[in-house]
Amino acid sequence: MQTEKLLLIPGPTPIHPRILNSLSSPTISHVSPIFVAEFKEALSNLKKIVFCKDGEPFIVAGTGTLAMEMALLNSVDKGGKILVLSQGYFGQRMAQIAEAFGLKYDLIECEWGKAVLPEVLEKSLSETKYEAVVSTHVDTCTGGCAPVKDYAEVLKNHESIYIIDGVCATGGIEERMDDWNVDVILTAAQKCFGVPPGLAMLVVSKKGLEKRKTLKAIPAFYSDWLRWLPIMKDPSKYFSTPCVNEIRAFCESTKIVLEEGLEKRFSRHALMARAIRAALIELGFTFFTEKPFLADTLSVVNYPEGIEDTSFRTLYYENGVVVAGGLGETTGRVFRLGHMGNISVSQVYFALEALEKTLSALEYKFDPGSGLKAAKTVLRG
Ligand code: PMP
Repeated sequence: MQTEKLLLIPGPTPIHPRILNSLSSPTISHVSPIFVAEFKEALSNLKKIVFCKDGEPFIVAGTGTLAMEMALLNSVDKGGKILVLSQGYFGQRMAQIAEAFGLKYDLIECEWGKAVLPEVLEKSLSETKYEAVVSTHVDTCTGGCAPVKDYAEVLKNHESIYIIDGVCATGGIEERMDDWNVDVILTAAQKCFGVPPGLAMLVVSKKGLEKRKTLKAIPAFYSDWLRWLPIMKDPSKYFSTPCVNEIRAFCESTKIVLEEGLEKRFSRHALMARAIRAALIELGFTFFTEKPFLADTLSVVNYPEGIEDTSFRTLYYENGVVVAGGLGETTGRVFRLGHMGNISVSQVYFALEALEKTLSALEYKFDPGSGLKAAKTVLRG
């Protein structure tokens, strides 16, 4: 009986043996020299992964949503206004967080499966002064990838703090903080880093931190960057107990990322996305996300006629692969397949073989072997 399934939901992602190994080591003191050194290394590596020289990294126990909350609360005054550029579910969440804390915001949405165009941002900035502009890099619900580099170009001559939610992108898709003048990249452990959920991470530019210092009281305690800053500069200090094993595992994951090399890692994500999509197209599937906005980290796949969500995912699971269903308005209409983090080519082949097996059992008409062949053609160049 197969007990372990290949986890291809869009996060958490499969855990590399080196990371699992690190997680299973006995918990050591959070002020021991070994942990302090690893915490420092994790912080420094996180900055390298987002191409940031002078900013401040933060790693705290929590998840992506906490990182979103921290980014907003530390960047805007009660009286100031935020602009949220949303391509779906997680942009809406940003607006909900602003709402929960009584922060003023404008929400620009687009049709799901697309992203807000830079021209729309330009127009909004010409009409209203925003203290912060927030974009979800990849919306994990719609699969839409935002043109964050183009937004940066538009924001070049503006004072606004530029915040990117990189939860479904950082470490898998290029994000260049310094070159693009990004002020905050927020992310989490469980996607492109391939670490179990449990960490909220941010890298904040000098400008972002200066802005925080100008805000008097913010409605936060655990989420306040200024309470964490002394710990991030010297992890032997105490504010709130860091999750030792998770941070050590994250440190290992950053080593894996940097050993692979950032450019190579981004190209591998792009190649795997192309290979998987070539297979799916060959099998007759289409995508929820429009072509120009397809992300390298996940595919949101429309169900063809005759394939029902629950039976498909149940059978695919029995054949060894876990994929996610839709969220919100896409529920029942799509499945979401993650292809990010430390997944290997053999795992991609396994997933595609299991997909064909699942489709055959559902009596779906396709040319057997054609999906796998299409993926192999892409992967072999
Ligand atoms: N932003 C994006 C783009 C996400 O995909 C997610 C989680 N899927 C979040 C934020 C929230 O992260 P978490 O579930 O870790 O709180």
